Amino acid sequence: MSKEISVLWLNAALSCDGESVALTGATQPSIEDLIGGVIPNLPKVNFHHPILAFETGDDFLEVFRRAADGEIEDFILVIEGSIPDESLAENGYFASFGTDAENGEPIKVCDWIDRLVEQAWAVVAVGTCATFGGVHAMPGNPTGAMGLADYLGWDWKSKAEIPIVNISGCPTLPDNITQTLLYLLQQFNGTSPMIELDEVLRPKFLFGETLHEGCDRGGLYEEAKFAENYGEKECIVKLGCWGPVVNCNVGKRGWQNGVGGCANYGGVCIGCTMPSFPEKFMSFMNQPPGSLLSSQAIATYGKAINSLRQYTLASMKEEPAWRQKTEPHRKLYQIERQSTVKSHQSSDDVKTDD
Ligand code: SF4
Repeated sequence: MSKEISVLWLNAALSCDGESVALTGATQPSIEDLIGGVIPNLPKVNFHHPILAFETGDDFLEVFRRAADGEIEDFILVIEGSIPDESLAENGYFASFGTDAENGEPIKVCDWIDRLVEQAWAVVAVGTCATFGGVHAMPGNPTGAMGLADYLGWDWKSKAEIPIVNISGCPTLPDNITQTLLYLLQQFNGTSPMIELDEVLRPKFLFGETLHEGCDRGGLYEEAKFAENYGEKECIVKLGCWGPVVNCNVGKRGWQNGVGGCANYGGVCIGCTMPSFPEKFMSFMNQPPGSLLSSQAIATYGKAINSLRQYTLASMKEEPAWRQKTEPHRKLYQIERQSTVKSHQSSDDVKTDD
């Protein structure tokens, strides 16, 4: 009998719903593929998302209530948005989700998280707000917003001994969401080992390389071809791109269905997948200080290498010497053909004489 698991998506923390929107654009796999049973060897998936659900109000909340009460055996809890410090809210609250059936009071998101994480098979934080705090966690924010790992503790593990899985990005790349869920579903089914995470709990298979390593403009950087203005095709490091020091796969993957991707299409990388985003990457439109040194160092040899490559490139456009003919090939062919026709004619003449 195939296994069964639920996915409960909670987007009521401090969020713009960017990941919920991104989710609908995933293609490799799509969310329809994940829950529709078209991918072999996956468990049956019951997907509960506040924006995609048919149910509303208490009908939608029912599954969350049952999960919090321990009545749903296995579920993956997905948290979107940063977690506020409700102790700063005095008599009010910063984020709530539904109301208490008995007293009608709003239920704080923190209270939902406290109860649901105890029961969850795995917990996923999606988006840079949920993973590291993001924009809401900048200095001076009145809510004390933080990422899920700061709220639960970086060593926290689910009842299946799985650490929090962080899928960062502002918003997260669509396929990074569905591929992480796909991996966890395979792990739940026993067909994949424990998901490997980096030191800030991001899946290594998605965040193991820098944007620069997969950027369409990487070859231009190497030859010191730098854009001076937006809209130019060269590397945009001097316009503020942080790609060389940011773990992100958007260069290789594109944004949606293989198309787009920040630096590929001329938008500077502002480091949105990183724990230090946004403060350490501001102001966004200035050249990163570290790249002042690296781009100057590259300029000293990049242009020389490019000249040498132009020379080699010109040579590679020539056919090998043994294939070159002094006369155009067609002309040679015509001469050979004429001489063959003549020799046939003369042999026919000899036969006629006989
Ligand atoms: Fe690297 Fe950014 Fe230049 Fe791409 S645009 S090659 S990521 S510095």
